[in-house]
Amino acid sequence: MSEHLDASWFTEAFTRCGSAFSLKITAKLHEEQTQYQKLAIYDTETYGKLMVLDGCVMLTDRDNFLYHEMMSHPALFTHARPRRVVIIGGGDCGTLKEVLKHPGVEKVTQIDIDERVTWAAEQWFPALVESNQDPRAELLFEDGVKWVDECEEASVDLIIVDSTDPVGPAEGLFKVDFFKRCFRILREGGILVQQSESPLYHTHSIIKELHTDMQAAGFQTTATLPFPQPVYPSGWWSCTMAGKECNVKQFRDADASARPFDTEYYSADIHRGALALPPFMQRVLNRR
Ligand code: SAM
Repeated sequence: MSEHLDASWFTEAFTRCGSAFSLKITAKLHEEQTQYQKLAIYDTETYGKLMVLDGCVMLTDRDNFLYHEMMSHPALFTHARPRRVVIIGGGDCGTLKEVLKHPGVEKVTQIDIDERVTWAAEQWFPALVESNQDPRAELLFEDGVKWVDECEEASVDLIIVDSTDPVGPAEGLFKVDFFKRCFRILREGGILVQQSESPLYHTHSIIKELHTDMQAAGFQTTATLPFPQPVYPSGWWSCTMAGKECNVKQFRDADASARPFDTEYYSADIHRGALALPPFMQRVLNRR
């Protein structure tokens, strides 16, 4: 049935891809222009609360677990013994909460450029910020590129880049220079994981470039793991991992199976399945 979408619908149009995604809104709860971006919070009819930055959907109550679990657990179960974790971006704190589920993690520093995103998560997404008082968590508000630049060499096990799209403040987080700086601060066996957009829309462009640039920065192995994400362009999303003296195509299968915490989407089987790329992606990513 086709229905005209009136002003009670929020729509994000992916103009370059000729598609759009809409949610039925029941209330606009907040809107502000922060120093870095336009931040809006809505209540929706079927997806709970919705956070939007510069017109792009960041997360909803209903499906954020897919993204936050896949941005964290595959990398954490690939690293041999992750103790020191850094999150660049991630201001809604959903990824932080997942990382802190790992008892072996000793310290997590999250660096988001925009303090207002975390403020908004504290107001409207209480489930995401519930681990923020964990003594292992440190929340900083500055540019992630600058922070990585100033970080001590070989001092980090895992860097998670949970950023907005590669435009505006996040543009520098998708550049080969940034990956070189990440490589420098990672210890041997370290992993960089980056949110890497839609397999359907971006395999030939952003995802292919990420593999090329991560390898040019010194990382020996790279892998893209697709996963469903209904509220993002095409409904299908991905993260891309890069390993420093570490094979990101293998993981601690038994530890993932015996994980001492609950997840909604991640499991050892899901991890194994996500490493099996569809042929169209293999053709693009394996081409030199
Ligand atoms: N899951 C989301 C997505 O893929 O659309 C990302 C969510 S998270 C809210 C993205 C965060 O990246 C935002 O809070 C934004 O402030 C932050 N960010 C963008 N550029 C940044 C930079 N250069 N340094 C640190 N944080 C940055």
